[in-house]
Amino acid sequence: MGMQSRRNIIIAGGNFAGLTLARGLCSKHFQVTVVDPGENFEWYPNIHELVSRHKSAARLRHSRRKIVERLGHRFMQAEVTGLECGQQRIMTGQGQSLPFDELALCIGNVSNIDRVPGAREFAQPCSSISEAENISRQLQRLDALNLPERPVVLVGANFVGLELLGEIVRRYRRQWRFRLHVVDALPAIMPGYRGLDAWFREQCSGLVVHWHSGRKVSAVNSANVVLDDGTILDSRLTLWCAGDMPHPLPAALGLAKPGRYIPVHATLQSLAAPRVWVAGDAADFPAALDKQAFHAIAMAGHIAANLRRAPGKPLQDYRPLPTPRLLSFGDTGLILFKYRALAHPSLLAAKEAVYQGNFNLMSLPRQTGEWYNLRDNLKEGLVGMNGMVRRAWSAGTLLHAQQFAAV
Ligand SMILES: Cc1cc2nc3c(=O)[nH]c(=O)nc-3n(C[C@H](O)[C@H](O)[C@H](O)COP(=O)(O)OP(=O)(O)OC[C@H]3O[C@@H](n4cnc5c(N)ncnc54)[C@H](O)[C@@H]3O)c2cc1C
Repeated sequence: MGMQSRRNIIIAGGNFAGLTLARGLCSKHFQVTVVDPGENFEWYPNIHELVSRHKSAARLRHSRRKIVERLGHRFMQAEVTGLECGQQRIMTGQGQSLPFDELALCIGNVSNIDRVPGAREFAQPCSSISEAENISRQLQRLDALNLPERPVVLVGANFVGLELLGEIVRRYRRQWRFRLHVVDALPAIMPGYRGLDAWFREQCSGLVVHWHSGRKVSAVNSANVVLDDGTILDSRLTLWCAGDMPHPLPAALGLAKPGRYIPVHATLQSLAAPRVWVAGDAADFPAALDKQAFHAIAMAGHIAANLRRAPGKPLQDYRPLPTPRLLSFGDTGLILFKYRALAHPSLLAAKEAVYQGNFNLMSLPRQTGEWYNLRDNLKEGLVGMNGMVRRAWSAGTLLHAQQFAAV
């Protein structure tokens, strides 16, 4: 295939799914443009560690332009705002109109912070590096204030909220001065596993932490949070980890119903437009699928394989693998399988290993400075790992992990 006949692929969104797809398409055969309004790839699964300072922001991001251009592709820092399906063109907020042969939407999802009055104005979300850094600064400022009480409300105790809570406990446990309220709509913390609720509460024993399970937030104000039963919780700092919702763009483009993810065939093509492919959090796959980086990466790899197939060859269906979920809670790691969950310090090392392997692979070093960065990153990881291994050693082998059966 000559350079003239390269297929023109636009990838909207350049994080887990978008960059994996770009990597799967060789510039000899594909003319690829990655469009994303943000400058950097961000490794979200570890941003909560910015709060305890176990990681620095530089260790969690890579330059998107560098990754994309090294693949021989083009990066455009812009936001996709429009689509003319018939004419196979996308429009950007910056006024460009770009033609495509195939379009991949890898735009993820958005925080549901706008669903509750006052939350956007008065609560701090935790969905990006800058937001996690902001939370870290605000906690530090509040901790330093000379106040009789330092009330903090954490809204949402699912994965993101619990990992954030674990880091707050890790950093401030020795001199705990907060009055921390944890609010979650579910009747218990991770009710899918017997005993996990009690385990999380026990990790915070001795600290002033109040749990409000089975409660929803109905309003956030500058100095308090109102719950659905009328309870008013004083708050100097409100942290928003209450979940995500579909990106509004697909509905505006006619690819999804309002408030829904983009329905796709098992091949990962949009039901509404076969030349539009969807990977990652933005997709509504025929079978239920967790919104996880693991799936975003695997789906994007699958789209790349389908696009590489010779014309006329049948497309393959994506078959998601069941994956356990790793999460950290301060100095302990948890792994959640379908039928069982385990908690043990060594699982924190497993989470660190997943980060080190995948994050460093995302942008392999070429210049001297980049080799130094990689060395420093691995060193930091190993130093951290050392502490984890010692804790794991005193906790015994994984056979001694605490186990929680699925309900
Ligand atoms: C705090 C946090 C912790 C997490 N922890 C874990 C974990 O431990 N394990 C795990 O597996 N998953 C975890 N996740 C989920 C995981 O990060 C997501 O599943 C993953 O990011 C999805 O990848 P994606 O490429 O679909 O979307 P994203 O990574 O969200 O990327 C979407 C990209 O699209 C861009 N974009 C948005 N709108 C437009 C537009 N209009 N035009 C162009 N570009 C646009 C965005 O700038 C972004 O770069 C976590 C997420 C968060 C926020």
